[in-house]
Amino acid sequence: MQFHKYDVVIVGAGGAGMRAAIESGQQARTAVLTKLYPTRSHTGAAQGGMCAALANVEEDNWEWHTFDTVKGGDYLVDQDAAEIMAKEAIDAVLDLEKMGLPFNRTPEGKIDQRRFGGHTRNHGEAAVRRACYAADRTGHMILQTLYQNCIKHEVEFFNEFYVLDICLTETADGPVCTGAVALELATGEIHVFQAKAVVFATGGFGKVFKTTSNAHTLTGDGMAIVFRKGLPLEDMEFYQFHPTGLAGLGILLTEGARGEGGILRNDSGERFMERYAPTIKDLAPRDMVARAMATEVREGRGCGPHKDYVLLDLTHLGAEVLDAKLPDITEFSRTYLGIDPVEEPVPVYPTAHYAMGGIPTNIKGEVLRDAENVVPGLYAAGECACVSVHGANRLGTNSLLDINVFGRRAGIAAAEYAKAHDFVDLPEAPEVPVVAMVDKLNASTGGERVANIRTELQQTMDANASVYRTEDTLKQALHDVQALKERFDRVAIQDHGKRYNTDLLEAVELGFLLELAEVLVLGAINRKESRGGHAREDYTTRDDVNFLRHTMAYKQISDDDTTKKTGFGGLTADIRLDYKPVVITRYQPMERKY
Ligand SMILES: Cc1cc2nc3c(=O)[nH]c(=O)nc-3n(C[C@H](O)[C@H](O)[C@H](O)COP(=O)(O)OP(=O)(O)OC[C@H]3O[C@@H](n4cnc5c(N)ncnc54)[C@H](O)[C@@H]3O)c2cc1C
Repeated sequence: MQFHKYDVVIVGAGGAGMRAAIESGQQARTAVLTKLYPTRSHTGAAQGGMCAALANVEEDNWEWHTFDTVKGGDYLVDQDAAEIMAKEAIDAVLDLEKMGLPFNRTPEGKIDQRRFGGHTRNHGEAAVRRACYAADRTGHMILQTLYQNCIKHEVEFFNEFYVLDICLTETADGPVCTGAVALELATGEIHVFQAKAVVFATGGFGKVFKTTSNAHTLTGDGMAIVFRKGLPLEDMEFYQFHPTGLAGLGILLTEGARGEGGILRNDSGERFMERYAPTIKDLAPRDMVARAMATEVREGRGCGPHKDYVLLDLTHLGAEVLDAKLPDITEFSRTYLGIDPVEEPVPVYPTAHYAMGGIPTNIKGEVLRDAENVVPGLYAAGECACVSVHGANRLGTNSLLDINVFGRRAGIAAAEYAKAHDFVDLPEAPEVPVVAMVDKLNASTGGERVANIRTELQQTMDANASVYRTEDTLKQALHDVQALKERFDRVAIQDHGKRYNTDLLEAVELGFLLELAEVLVLGAINRKESRGGHAREDYTTRDDVNFLRHTMAYKQISDDDTTKKTGFGGLTADIRLDYKPVVITRYQPMERKY
């Protein structure tokens, strides 16, 4: 075992982690631990853009942006947080520009902006140009720019270090975060990092679904790690399905394609979004477009031999626009479907894309241990966190914004906390839970295989907890997930080596996925209403009287439970659901029309 000591430890080197590291690295000794090489993080796959009311192309202001975010999130958004995000968006984009990010430009040399779903002028009048972009590689450019600036500020990176646990030290005032435990992929060695502050920026968990835009590595590690410690997860039932995944594959085609004028059509060539959102049509928020597509297919107006997808028509845009503004997705369609978007419409269907829920934080990025109190020294930002700026449905381009605004805030808050506080002792033998988990997996002689359980998990989630849900489908999913958890207890791995044991780590990640799937499904069963990305066919309307509130899910860990000491195992422990009020400042909930 190796031991390290830093003021601030950041877990994750995506956009949120690296934006935090740039701030923290200038004020305090900072280490970034990441299971992937930094520039391989999923932020690098982001395509369409990052929004800010710069008003470079047409009139716009941050108040309109706040309103769109609140309405887009079906009023489950904490409005104080949304205001901060929309206001700070402008500097967030300009900061990236100053760091060297090559945005597309207007003829006068300003940062160019394009339309995106749900972003409107004057509270819904028409779509507005708010998304700043670098072709359809905006996330790639952000990630490279942030990494270069981390290097400039001498942030220390521990690449291919899997964080598998956090250290919480009990004090008279409750738990304090004092470090993290990681497994080094190259050697299999365990490393304990003592820190005054730890920032989680570990991204999403799209891999609970089969059809997803998410990378193989998005297994919700950070969320599951804090959940296993008895800390809550917020609003996990709200998962976003992006309308335009390549049919049958889930690979994403950015909403920027519709922002540039792309049109969705059904089997008769009808522009069906005119019926669902007469004002902004194809640029309605993602939850509405995904439901419209699923409805077209269900009612027999789908395309193809099985009538199971719709078409994204880009043919009228012309080769020049596609080359300049959407080159990557044009290539994806050619490569993966053999369809050239210049000539033919592209088959698309909703794909699991983004977690609105996550580790609850306040606007400084401090992690909450219940509806009111924080865990001193523990921070979270980015997709793994829930501030909550996205409420029940995130608007496109608001995540690249979220990771920059709240990544920066968490980095500053963590560094300031570290400067003002001394090190607190680690709990006794902090590495024991991780060692026990690794030993258990290595020693298992059970007959279950990781790949089989993962496939069955993804199948039931796709079938039963996707765009449309009912009590029956969700109960089926819960039953399946709990049965898979039992089988997971008997999972065995084939590789017992130390070096690059991805077999072992995939088993650990599957454990995280199973845990989060159960929280998602339980929250969804309990939320007997339809709101944003959570559409219940048995409760089709939004119910503000009973459900205008955030879900807080806690893992119940009894005092005599040995899993409390190890933090692992005990996958079948009960989950308790509680609630947290929504922060409403200016915008009272209204009917959501587009
Ligand atoms: C295909 C695609 C396109 C998208 N396009 C857009 C877009 O155009 N605009 C927009 O706003 N949003 C977009 N999004 C969403 C957005 O990109 C993500 O939500 C956002 O980038 C997440 O950033 P993050 O920093 O929170 O996490 P990530 O970028 O996913 O980074 C997570 C980091 O955590 C590390 N990590 C995870 N687990 C561990 C562990 N156990 N130990 C150590 N390290 C760990 C990983 O190594 C990685 O460095 C897109 C998403 C996808 C999938």
